[in-house]
Parts: sequence; C-alpha cells; structure tokens
Amino acid sequence: MTFHSPRLLFALLPWLLVSCVTQSEPALYDTVQISKGCRESHFQISGVPVISKEKGQTLATIKQGSKGIPYSVYWPAGLVPEPAKSYQFEYLKAEITRNSGERPWTDVEILRIKDGDKILVDKSICPLHQAPMARQVEEDVSAPDYSAYYLWTYRQAHCPNDGRAYLTCDSGISHLRWKCPACYKIAETWEKKHGTPKG
Ligand SMILES: [Zn+2]
Repeated sequence: MTFHSPRLLFALLPWLLVSCVTQSEPALYDTVQISKGCRESHFQISGVPVISKEKGQTLATIKQGSKGIPYSVYWPAGLVPEPAKSYQFEYLKAEITRNSGERPWTDVEILRIKDGDKILVDKSICPLHQAPMARQVEEDVSAPDYSAYYLWTYRQAHCPNDGRAYLTCDSGISHLRWKCPACYKIAETWEKKHGTPKG
C-alpha cells in the first residue's frame, strides 16, 4: 500500500491510483521531472485489461506480464472495453520522500488510455476547456486566504486545473500538477476582481 500525500488537496483526481511499487516498470519517456521531495516518471503497460464492476463503474485492471504489479483504473463512462482486446495504459509515477533516507511512497496516476493511435482518455487535456495542460511544479498558495465559496464552488466549476495547491500548512513537498492556461487566467481574473483572494 502507498498513500496519498497527507496535504490538504482540493482537486482530488478521481482517476488517482495508489499502489505499492517496488518493481521497476518500463520507462515510456526519458524525461523525469524532479521537484522538492518528488520525482515523477512515466511508464506504459500494454495488454488486455481484466474488467470488473465496482460501485456501478467499470474497473479495468492491467499489469505488466503475469508477475507484474496490477494497476486498476476506472474505465471512462460511455465506452465499453472490447473483450480480449489489448490497450495501452500510460501512467505517471510520483515517488515522494519527505526526508532524505526515508523510503518513498508512490502515487500512480493514469495519464492516457490508448487503443492503437486512438486516445480514449487523456488526462493532460483540461476537460473544462479542452486545452492541453502543462505538467509543472505546483504553485503553493495559502488556503485560508481564500473564501470557502471560491475554494469549494467557484474554483471547482471554473478553474479546477489552475496548477495551484491550496494549503493549510507547508508539507515540505512540491508536487507536480496540471496547469491549464485557461483555468489559470480565470483564477487570476478572480483575484484581480476581488482584490484579495477573500470574497
Ligand atoms: Zn482549464
């Protein structure tokens, strides 16, 4: 088992997966992004997922070979996985260490599901604005500076991928986060309009 970061996060990803990773997966890209306490890499697993149902949703479980680590992800609503068909699952793997020498915990997050050249799921596209997002070190801001309305209602509806982490304390870790240019502009406009974030 691994764990989500204990930080106060306001943009929980429904696709976020957690899994203990002690083996190495095949790297998809050479690029590895490193931020404070966090190292993120990519990997891809191709194969026929095992399909099951959980709470009315379709769950697809994939692993690399017979001895690989199983990763489960909710299959997108409205799409039906074809039986015995092979798909490609791209993941982002963050290894997080609060203190040096400490064993890192790992968050594994789905990035894409592909059927050959066809992309079925792409978490790098902002679902609200259909805009490509940048993967970047999160911009930490203080949650108490913002109103509950902004945090829980306005932001969720208008700018959920503003690339920020709204924190109540500094965890000492900087995560990598999606930043949509349209979401960020909306968040900035809100702040300019209201002077201070409160409002
Ligand atoms: Zn957006």
